[in-house]
Amino acid sequence: MKRKSRVSDFRYDTGAAKVPWCAVGESFEVEDVMEIVRFLLPPAGEQRQKYEEALRKVHLSMKQLGKLAGRAGKLTLGNRVQEAEEAAKKFLKTPYACLLTNATAGFEIGYKYAGLKAGDEVIAPAITFISTILYPLEVGARVVLADVDPVTLNMDPADVARKITPKTKVIIPVHLGGYPVDMAPIMKLAKQRDIVVIEDAAHALGAVYRGKMVGTIGHFGAFSLHEVKNINSLGEGGLLVTNLPFGKKLAQARFVGLDPSRKIPTWLYDVLALKGKGGYFAPGNHSATEIQALGFLLQLKRIKAIIARRRKNAEYLTRRFSQVSGIIPQKLDEKNSQSTYHLYLFQLDPKFFKGNIQEFKKRLEAKGVVQIPHFAPLYKFSIMRQLGYDTAAMEKSCPVAEEAFRNRFTHLPLYPLTEDQVKYMAEAVIECVESMRR
Ligand SMILES: *Cc1c(COP(=O)(O)O)cnc(C)c1O
Repeated sequence: MKRKSRVSDFRYDTGAAKVPWCAVGESFEVEDVMEIVRFLLPPAGEQRQKYEEALRKVHLSMKQLGKLAGRAGKLTLGNRVQEAEEAAKKFLKTPYACLLTNATAGFEIGYKYAGLKAGDEVIAPAITFISTILYPLEVGARVVLADVDPVTLNMDPADVARKITPKTKVIIPVHLGGYPVDMAPIMKLAKQRDIVVIEDAAHALGAVYRGKMVGTIGHFGAFSLHEVKNINSLGEGGLLVTNLPFGKKLAQARFVGLDPSRKIPTWLYDVLALKGKGGYFAPGNHSATEIQALGFLLQLKRIKAIIARRRKNAEYLTRRFSQVSGIIPQKLDEKNSQSTYHLYLFQLDPKFFKGNIQEFKKRLEAKGVVQIPHFAPLYKFSIMRQLGYDTAAMEKSCPVAEEAFRNRFTHLPLYPLTEDQVKYMAEAVIECVESMRR
């Protein structure tokens, strides 16, 4: 990777003084790096002895390298973070991008920009991860759940239209499993009423809607780089994008309001609030490290191949399931919607089967196809009741989500799976379904 000239960091860049102020207090040593190698590339299978031998050779080379190596540069908010952001902007064709601790922090910045406060309303889809609405819950804004589309289980724009009120400040569509939400009607509603749209694109880095990269359609889009997502930045991470002029302030919103591109002339520095649509707000601290940025950059290079491999698995499953009456398979790519295939969402039509989807999940698990934590409608979580929500009324207002959760839908993993695993999974699903046929 070609490195640009050093990004100045106003906090530590004290130049070539006799005793410069150093960005990194304590460096990592060769032995430390060896532990990291061992962690990232652990022994596999029965080859333990060969692994240790190979590692010893690496260790020797590393010791030599250590004799020749200087100190690592900055560990946070440096060149690699900037490179990661440049790469993300190019990939997403968007003017502003910011690498963060996680996607949840990205939503927070979007909500703060909108000026969200107690008494305001936010419309989120009934089916998502709790992260989507944590900031509104934290500040006491009212979360209104929109029902979902019966096939994609994404936010249903018609129900959003029904649930908008003059208090609605933010709409947060979620591209579930990476399949794009029908954004056009949502953007139209938002425009008419001057509502901020934050896309929860946690699953959707690389998805395309009507020729536009998902995440760049709303005012903000936040992607997750957590280890369970399609690509990750060494465990945790997030990416926030926007096409608002506010994008110039993203770096400040990420790190306590300070502008990292500007060197401060003296030790005396000032901290400013940020100005959003709803007035001034206080920034947070959501900085990403150089190592996270490097992890993200390396995987971003492979993202097209990663999605293609997942797509191939999804196409195989859909082909198999299309031949079984009563299975409603994952939608595949269409002209206007290209998914990242983060998950394989599918449904059983209860008309065809005895027992419901919960029974099916038990049977599938008994065959060794492990079920991962499942997306439940948000009103099922205790936190909603504990914070005073009338969860029974919420459930009643989202009949499609409730029916899908109770009787119809589940999801399968797509990658990293071998061809044998995908085939086994398809057969296990079909056998379970057949055993439940009326
Ligand atoms: C994973 C996930 C998030 C949160 O992402 P983090 O990067 O962990 O904050 C948000 N929304 C959905 C739908 C997710 O699955």
